[in-house]
Amino acid sequence: MTTDTRPGISGLTPDELATWVAAQGQPAYRVRQIADAVWTGGGVVGAGEILTLPGALREALDGAFRFDTVADTELRIADGGLTEKSLHRLDDGALIESVLMHYPARAGSRERHTLCISSQAGCAVGCPFCATGELGYGRDLTTAEILDQVRQAARRLAANDQRLTNIVFMGMGEPLLNLDRVLATVEALNDPARFGLGARHITVSTSGVVPGIRRLTALGPQFTLAVSLHAARDALRDVLVPLNRRWPVAEVVAAAREHARTTGRRISYEYTMIGGVNDTPADADALVDLLRGDHAHVNLIPMNPVAHTPWQASPMPVIEAFATTLRDAGIGTTIRRNRGQEVGAACGQLAAERAGEPPAPAVARRRERLVMASAAALRGDRSEEPVPPGVLSSMDA
Ligand code: SAH
Ligand code: SF4
Repeated sequence: MTTDTRPGISGLTPDELATWVAAQGQPAYRVRQIADAVWTGGGVVGAGEILTLPGALREALDGAFRFDTVADTELRIADGGLTEKSLHRLDDGALIESVLMHYPARAGSRERHTLCISSQAGCAVGCPFCATGELGYGRDLTTAEILDQVRQAARRLAANDQRLTNIVFMGMGEPLLNLDRVLATVEALNDPARFGLGARHITVSTSGVVPGIRRLTALGPQFTLAVSLHAARDALRDVLVPLNRRWPVAEVVAAAREHARTTGRRISYEYTMIGGVNDTPADADALVDLLRGDHAHVNLIPMNPVAHTPWQASPMPVIEAFATTLRDAGIGTTIRRNRGQEVGAACGQLAAERAGEPPAPAVARRRERLVMASAAALRGDRSEEPVPPGVLSSMDA
């Protein structure tokens, strides 16, 4: 494990790059040449490839910056080539994941290539159905580390004359707990002189960090906001999204509603369907009560099985009945099919697998605790457990 202290060049703002180029005594047009090399078709992985530059400048660039902050990538292909799952190793050994999903053209829709990226190594929120939550928090990613996942996928696509059409922050981590870096990333993705992807094609997903949502509202529409709900009642959401003990579901939905009102953009809610836990008719009714009249859309996602939980996806007829209840109340609802299950594409699963199985007694205790907590939540009892430590100190509104 090494720690390379050179910053990733993709994380530089245009001004920072211009300042560096000027400090080298180089003409301003070099800035454009370097930026083109970093971004076109996903960009180069070393300054040596930028043949338009003088040799000394190439050397200076390589001495000052990394052209790829991802040290190593293990690629797994699934769904007959439609899903490409990458396990990336960063310079300090941290493991993160990204997933590239190809959607062939259909009548009425063009082909799409969607990349799901990570914003943190691990995650502090600790949702028990999520493989990343199981890993716990590692660290925040730098802007370059987030962008280099995108550049790598773009390079693979460019080799086939294809381009990324959509980017979703639905990999590892809670983007709104690394918000400055995520915003800098989105700016680079949006910038026509850098990655050049329209705001409508970028989605940031949050488990409900209310002050973060409010900050985004103040900034105006830069991307689509998705909110992970998974439960409409506090007792159950306390168990499924531990952040709920800090920002209860009504506050999360109020912040999302205000965001939709101010930006004119529809909020999309994610709801992972867990068999017998959050998929009952009472849960569907509670969700209808919560969202009635909102400019909202609900995505129902069958839970990807994760080791160490006692839970599974709801059966499809249950998901369909749940969707019907929402649609009958006028709430637009989609059932999302899982991708890449065969290689463990639910967020964090490859990294969790690499971390190794915890001891069997620990798994058994954890499963028992989840069964008891979800049973209590179904009765309507709110949990006594505290907010996860260390997550929220800096996030007070
Ligand atoms: N932390 C953010 C974004 C990353 S998680 C968030 O929670 O929104 C992206 C999405 O994957 C979330 O909606 C999350 O609930 C969902 N997810 C996590 N584990 C899953 C699993 N085992 N099955 C299905 N969806 C899962
Ligand atoms: Fe973190 Fe999102 Fe996983 Fe919850 S679902 S643990 S917030 S990555």
